Amino acid sequence: MSFVSPGIYPQYIWGYKFLTEAINFFCTLSEEEISLERSKARKLRKTRWWRRKCASGKCHYCGRTVGAGNLTMDHMVPLARGGRSTRSNLVPACKECNSSKQAKLAFEWEDYLSRNSS
Ligand SMILES: [Zn+2]
Repeated sequence: MSFVSPGIYPQYIWGYKFLTEAINFFCTLSEEEISLERSKARKLRKTRWWRRKCASGKCHYCGRTVGAGNLTMDHMVPLARGGRSTRSNLVPACKECNSSKQAKLAFEWEDYLSRNSS
C-alpha cells in the first residue's frame, strides 16, 4: 500500500470533487431535468410568443425564409450541454439547419454557421 501525504492529497480530492460537481451542476442536466425541459419546450411551442417568433418563417441560423410550417424549435444550447427551455435559448430553425446541427459537434457547427453567413 502506498502512503500519500495526508496534508495535500485529501485537499486535492476535495478540490477535484468540487470542480466536477460544479461542472455537472452548470453543464449537464439529469434525465429527469431533460424530460422536464422537453415538456417545457412543448408547452412553449403552443404559445403566442412562439407563433410570433415563427411568423416571419425565417430560420434563425441560415436566415432563409422557409415558411412557418417548415420551422422547428431548436435549443441554441442543446439540453445535452446544459441548455434550458427558456425563451432566450429557443429559436426557430429550418429542418436542414436543425438536422445538420444535431449531427455536428459545437465547433463544427460554428464553422458551418460562419461559412453560411459569409
Ligand atoms: Zn436554416
